[in-house]
Amino acid sequence: KLYNQVQDLKGNIRVYCRIRPFLPGQLPGLSTAEALDGQTISIITPAKNGKGKKLFTFNKVFGPSASQEGVFSDTQPLIRSVLDGYNVCIFAYGQTGSGKTYTMTGPKELTTESLGVNYRALSDLFAISKQRKDSISYDVSVQMIEIYNEQVRDLLVSDGVNEKYPWRNTLEIRNISQNGINIPNANIVPVSSTSDVIELMNIGLKNRAVGSTSMNDRSSRSHSCVTVHVQGRNLTSGSITRGSMHLVDLAGSERADKTDTVGDRLTEAQHINHSLSVLGDVIASLAQKQSRVPYRNSKLTQLLQDSLGGQSKTLMFIHINPEPDALGETVSTLKFAERVS
Ligand code: ADP
Ligand code: MG
Repeated sequence: KLYNQVQDLKGNIRVYCRIRPFLPGQLPGLSTAEALDGQTISIITPAKNGKGKKLFTFNKVFGPSASQEGVFSDTQPLIRSVLDGYNVCIFAYGQTGSGKTYTMTGPKELTTESLGVNYRALSDLFAISKQRKDSISYDVSVQMIEIYNEQVRDLLVSDGVNEKYPWRNTLEIRNISQNGINIPNANIVPVSSTSDVIELMNIGLKNRAVGSTSMNDRSSRSHSCVTVHVQGRNLTSGSITRGSMHLVDLAGSERADKTDTVGDRLTEAQHINHSLSVLGDVIASLAQKQSRVPYRNSKLTQLLQDSLGGQSKTLMFIHINPEPDALGETVSTLKFAERVS
């Protein structure tokens, strides 16, 4: 089947696809992926029988020249709904090096133009809550955790505050959340400005890097999740609304090479395969409106249970590396996305 149409959004699940550019210093080479229009991506597969093109359609497709601002502007309506009391999950999926962290956070050296979705989402929240300040008073607070080998760690810790709940310990996820908070022992920090958020995320990113060397980049093998809790109090009626937003930079989706992966790397690879496939199962069963959704099968989906399905809104950014070497993983990424949309 050449034309593989992924239908428009079913329910509250959307898939956006982003192709990253070739990087400076890299030989441009032949790009294996091309954005044909705002919703179609064309993949050039090794020419078999003369024909090597395959098309996929998603809610949006962003080509390599898309700016951070451009990508975010299509995400903005979701952010607004958090203030209206909805739960939102935004995921970045793709193989290591495909641009997940770039989309969510930005490049290593951040500039105003290159700020990723996380920062833009928060500054939008603040801007809108300010506009509404005469009728609703909002409290915004942030948690940041990492899931590594099915263990949950708090990323918002410094030596000063980690005595009570040492961050090396695994945190518990509560089945029943209280006020939308289901990791009660992870630090939760009130924020009121974008600079507060930048400061917090820097702490989180630094903690995420602990234990990694250049040969051993742990950030590619753990899921990180920034959770924003928003509580609004109507100044006239006193009624309370609660919304939340999970911003998830997933572990790299690449398959480990089965023959030479051993020891710790093998354990990590097995946990990643497991949790990404459970995530796929959960979203696919929601998209198909199945009654049994296997949230309990992984820590990530357990954590996000209240925010996946029901009235919640889910956005999956899938990332494509255009290099020929990446093609095999590109195809698996597109198949994953096809399944969940
Ligand atoms: P991942 O998190 O999926 O492993 P990264 O976000 O770290 O991938 O991206 C890999 C490299 O590509 C980084 O150097 C990053 O800055 C760069 N990069 C990714 N996406 C883009 C983009 N859209 N524009 C410019 N550079 C990008
Ligand atoms: Mg990354």
